[in-house]
Amino acid sequence: MNKNMLITGASRGIGAATARLAAQRGWNVAVNYTRNASAAEAVVADVRKAGRKGLAIQADVGKPDEVVRLFKTFDAEFGDLHGFFNNAGILEKASKLVDMDVARLERILAVNTVGAFVAAREAARRMSTRLGGKGGVIVNMSSAASKIGGANEAIDYALSKGAIDTMTIGMAKELAGEGIRVNAVRPGMIDTDIQRDTGIPDRVQRAVPQIPMLRGGTVEEVAEAVLWLMSDQSSYCIGLLMDVTGGRGL
Ligand code: NAP
Repeated sequence: MNKNMLITGASRGIGAATARLAAQRGWNVAVNYTRNASAAEAVVADVRKAGRKGLAIQADVGKPDEVVRLFKTFDAEFGDLHGFFNNAGILEKASKLVDMDVARLERILAVNTVGAFVAAREAARRMSTRLGGKGGVIVNMSSAASKIGGANEAIDYALSKGAIDTMTIGMAKELAGEGIRVNAVRPGMIDTDIQRDTGIPDRVQRAVPQIPMLRGGTVEEVAEAVLWLMSDQSSYCIGLLMDVTGGRGL
């Protein structure tokens, strides 16, 4: 297999775990990040250790022109794009609706929604058989928050992910006839740095009583779901909003 995957937000957390697992499964991997170059280089080192091509590409997904540059750099370095994991996302300090300002909402939407939309468009432009591409797979990153709603902590984040669910369904239907399968993963509580960004200590542990499986999930468990959606094993699946939640939000 000589397939190329681009993952946004792959220097840490779920994106990094997916990059590592993808390399073990034979993918070459482009590791996008925005600030943490050393973390991105550590992921790239592991991709190369697995015998695959790896490269870190800095770009802020919250800036449309940087998303376009990210894909152009990918084209030059890797060639064909076979798999795109639209993963980069942010979560801000836990807050109630009445305390949220518009600047915060705009920051979240710029990365989680507009950024993801523009990135999916760039991937589709390259993969579409109608436009001369060879087809491919897009996996969007949603969240269980899209169903639960983020009350008392992150309604802004939840709505940014609700939009991901909607666009996943639209893109899945629009692109299926052009050789592109589009699906999403919706993780529940996964213990990554993003949890610390809320300012709530032990956020995952606190949520455990509300999780039917009585534990948070791991980055590896989400990565497995992404790799399945990327693989031919899911060849007849489109528009899935795949919960990886231990039952949270059911
Ligand atoms: P994380 O550990 O905080 O990692 C975030 C990653 O995204 C880092 O690689 C970071 O790069 C990158 N990033 C942040 N802003 C970016 C931007 N503007 N442009 C490009 N890259 C950017 O978070 P995570 O938990 O793995 O989250 C990954 C995705 O999963 C997010 O979309 C999140 O909403 C979603 N998710 C997470 C959970 C969970 O429980 N953890 C649950 C549901 C959904 P730097 O290292 O350069 O900062």
